[in-house]
Amino acid sequence: MSNTQKTRLFIIGAGPAGYTAAIYAARADLNPVMYAGPQPGGQLMITSDVENYPGFPEGIQGPEMMELFRKQAERFGTKITYATVTKVDFSVRPFRIEADDQSVWEADAVIIATGASAKWLGLEKEEKLYGRGVSACAVCDGFFYRGQDVAVVGGGDTAAEEALYLSKLARKVYMLVRRDVFRASKIMQKRIMEAPNIEVLFNHETVDLLGENELEGVVAVNNKTGEKKTLTVQGFFVAIGHKPNTEIFKGQVEMDEQGYIITRAGSTATNVKGVFAAGDVQDKIYRQAVTAAGTGCMAALDAERFLSGLEG
Ligand code: NDP
Repeated sequence: MSNTQKTRLFIIGAGPAGYTAAIYAARADLNPVMYAGPQPGGQLMITSDVENYPGFPEGIQGPEMMELFRKQAERFGTKITYATVTKVDFSVRPFRIEADDQSVWEADAVIIATGASAKWLGLEKEEKLYGRGVSACAVCDGFFYRGQDVAVVGGGDTAAEEALYLSKLARKVYMLVRRDVFRASKIMQKRIMEAPNIEVLFNHETVDLLGENELEGVVAVNNKTGEKKTLTVQGFFVAIGHKPNTEIFKGQVEMDEQGYIITRAGSTATNVKGVFAAGDVQDKIYRQAVTAAGTGCMAALDAERFLSGLEG
């Protein structure tokens, strides 16, 4: 292993939260070190048109936007390494961080911005048709299916929200729920049942996606009767939950039962002084690029205040 390197501020993750934290921290002369992780740019790298990020009235492609974020972070002196953090130790000061490029770092403050990943069904064509009818975000992509027919898979609050959002745009929304009950809250269930253009198919599991270059339909099987159904839909929204990318932080910072990092209300502070969390890794409600960027900014300001306290 190489010699241990030292930084005041270490940022883990390079999505909207990490980059925004880096822009603010770099402009505050903190010379942040950023490790970009396995998917530099985060979930926006697998999104096509972003039309709801303020400041881009014509919309922008997700990867293009992340390239702009990156340039802005680098312009002010962020040092970005394209490697993945594999281990952290927040029980020592300075904090200790190891990465898969064999580097070892010591940092006075850390911002965790490792994001979350959408869970997928694991169907063969899911990846192939991603962005061509298959999506994991109705708010991002629903607009493209105005007047068309779509299906949402999942029975939780996220799926219910996606279905309700889509019901205002699409002609018809099928909701594929694998059990005979929803997991979603009662109020969301009521709204779903009252929406005139949402048809809920309980006990249905998605077994195949149709289409080569664009989604043409979805095949679902009733797991009670074995009956197969083909739904002709142009959009397929997977809403079976997200998974925060927090494996390496287990036992290091406080998390909720789903593994999201807990931050203090109105702050990005975790239970470990000097460790902050921003973006989807600590947010299971909003999950937008703009909210991630907002908390990234907060994390940099919180870290700056913490570091000046250390020096003072
Ligand atoms: P949940 O874990 O609550 O629900 C996941 C849903 O997807 C369940 O219906 C589950 O079925 C289904 N599912 C899981 N895996 C599969 C699979 N392989 N095939 C088919 N269906 C599958 O996740 P959510 O993202 O919906 O919600 C996460 C948390 O965030 C919850 O606590 C929720 O309340 C909260 N939330 C709150 C919102 C709000 O208050 N406005 C909005 C969105 C989320 P099964 O029930 O059979 O396991």
